[in-house]
Amino acid sequence: MKEHYDVVVVGAGHAGCEAACAAAQMGAQTLLITMDMNKIAQMSCNPAVGGIAKGQIVREIDALGGHMAQVTDATTLQFRMLNRSKGPAMWSPRAQCDRGRFIWAWRQVVENQPNLSIWQDQVKELLVEDGRVTGVETYLGVTFTARCVIITAGTFLNGLMHIGRTKLAGGRCAEPPSLRLSESIAQHGITVGRMKTGTPVRIDGRSVHFDEMTLQPGDHDFHRFSYSPPSSPMMGSSQGTRSCENIPPHEGTEEGLPCWITYTNPAVHERLRQGLPDSPLFNGQIQSIGPRYCPSIETKLVTFADKDQHQLFLEPEGLHTQEYYLNGFSSSLPIDVQLEALRLIPAFRDLKVYRPGYAIEYDYFDPTLLHHTLESKKVEGLFLAGQVNGTTGYEEAAGQGLVAGVNAALKCSGGGEFVMHRDESYIGVLIDDLVTKGVDEPYRMFTSRAEFRILLRQDDADARLTPRAYELGLATSARYNHWTEKRDEIERILTFCKDFSVKASLINPYLETLGATPLAKGCKLIDLLSRPGLSFDNLSPALSRLAETLDATPNRKEEIAEAAEIQIKYQGYIERERQMAEKMQRLENLRIRGRFRYEEILSLSTEARQKLSHIDPETLAQASRIPGVSPSDVNVLLVLLGR
Ligand SMILES: Cc1cc2nc3c(=O)[nH]c(=O)nc-3n(C[C@H](O)[C@H](O)[C@H](O)COP(=O)(O)OP(=O)(O)OC[C@H]3O[C@@H](n4cnc5c(N)ncnc54)[C@H](O)[C@@H]3O)c2cc1C
Repeated sequence: MKEHYDVVVVGAGHAGCEAACAAAQMGAQTLLITMDMNKIAQMSCNPAVGGIAKGQIVREIDALGGHMAQVTDATTLQFRMLNRSKGPAMWSPRAQCDRGRFIWAWRQVVENQPNLSIWQDQVKELLVEDGRVTGVETYLGVTFTARCVIITAGTFLNGLMHIGRTKLAGGRCAEPPSLRLSESIAQHGITVGRMKTGTPVRIDGRSVHFDEMTLQPGDHDFHRFSYSPPSSPMMGSSQGTRSCENIPPHEGTEEGLPCWITYTNPAVHERLRQGLPDSPLFNGQIQSIGPRYCPSIETKLVTFADKDQHQLFLEPEGLHTQEYYLNGFSSSLPIDVQLEALRLIPAFRDLKVYRPGYAIEYDYFDPTLLHHTLESKKVEGLFLAGQVNGTTGYEEAAGQGLVAGVNAALKCSGGGEFVMHRDESYIGVLIDDLVTKGVDEPYRMFTSRAEFRILLRQDDADARLTPRAYELGLATSARYNHWTEKRDEIERILTFCKDFSVKASLINPYLETLGATPLAKGCKLIDLLSRPGLSFDNLSPALSRLAETLDATPNRKEEIAEAAEIQIKYQGYIERERQMAEKMQRLENLRIRGRFRYEEILSLSTEARQKLSHIDPETLAQASRIPGVSPSDVNVLLVLLGR
């Protein structure tokens, strides 16, 4: 059998699903090849989406026309807005999801996406002619030719799992590894490395003493992931896609399912310590580097030797299962050690588990050999996205997948490139970091990686990205109209606040009841609101015109009021960052690719010459971010550019 497509996507994980849908939505005839259709968008580790900085990425994917947010909303067991006590740049949505339903919701999306076909098989060979990709060959002996191929094989490339001294080939628990594909890609000059990650035990809830743990409820307010309403046909292309909004929400989940908190103790630590000689992380069996910010329990014991307890979160895996995920107890110690240690926690004294924790090593490709479009610099038409680029996390993978999908489709239609800047999105920061700095450990996103994080808030990803996605043909008109309605409503509220005058004599008695300093003279409402402690909520009872203005919003009142209030309260910070971003943009506009032979510029440092030759930066701004390129090296380039 032999078939032809514009775009072939290898792997239906988080990167692959977004990549395939994006390419198809852009009109490319797309094929998604995956090993097991029943594990589409399987969450290999925690069944949770979002969290600090990752939640912002999910909102960006939604704003662009991707699907992760709506799939998450349709399968949420518990939602929380993290960091509410901090400024809005730090607010990060997170949802605990029903693992099984998440898979089926995603499957419904991909199965009903126009222009997208699915094939269940394993790819073994990348086909390349004269430095250009021509397709893939599978283990079932099928050849698919294509103009672009996107590899999103996750942790599967030469995957090797570890539990104590036991080693098992596999891409994930109970799934085979992807063999040969890595070598087939590497032979084209693409550098391969090894990384490691791990996961905790899955617990049988019937064996847990829940009454001996602390309950952690979710939020019960208007927040959710998607900017689109739950029941509008906004996913997929404008050609009438059916998708996961058709899945009814869980019965009984309006209140959400709680998570639970417990702690390790000195006895647990002692039992774990006894197992360290058999730990593949400490006896030399695992050589590759794991995610620093997601350490195993045995790494925590060694790194924080003085701590006599570590917090553990017991999180539900689904509405109709007894399975629980033990967040904070990732381990690759022998099975007996894991179980015996856990049974020393009072709430787990009768513990039974469905499966132990394990670690996995896998291949990844050096991301500095990619353009910002995620196309390979070595093989034209080959795109790489997700864990294979050295990242960790579903959200990081999905964001890259979407960008790769869009760019592959653009390449097929001859329609240019889609690149997001660092002041536009966390996805832009992620990709720029990958291709500019490379990785020496699994890369996960943090708010601290973004220099313009007050511009990259979770509340305004639609403002930043939806108009551009609509122009590209990625976001539907329904999604775009949804954003313009929100924009106009925010504008109406802001105009009212700028125009409305507050009289000191009228408001001061009320301000005193709030414990706020009285006004010396009257002012505009916008100035009153910019004071700490004053908000739409606590001023509305005293200002009926404000209450009426907020009430006049026809849809999504709370979301729109919150977005307007953030703009009022943080206007100064937002403006300052925007000015800094504009300054940076001047360097971004200085394109330098192809203009220098770095090895011949002797006024550059040796390290700068080597790094600049290797990365071959697109712009002067990118050059300035390469580790080892100093401000004086940038000045040298500026002077040469001037000449
Ligand atoms: C044990 C384990 C623990 C983890 N722990 C964490 C954690 O604590 N925190 C965190 O952020 N992330 C963790 N991760 C990583 C997280 O699962 C990934 O970041 C995320 O799933 C990456 O998405 P992806 O789309 O790149 O790849 P994946 O989700 O791995 O999907 C890859 C897909 O490609 C398919 N595939 C692979 N090879 C082929 C082939 N040759 N032909 C056809 N199909 C193929 C697979 O079947 C799969 O569907 C863990 C992963 C594992 C396995």
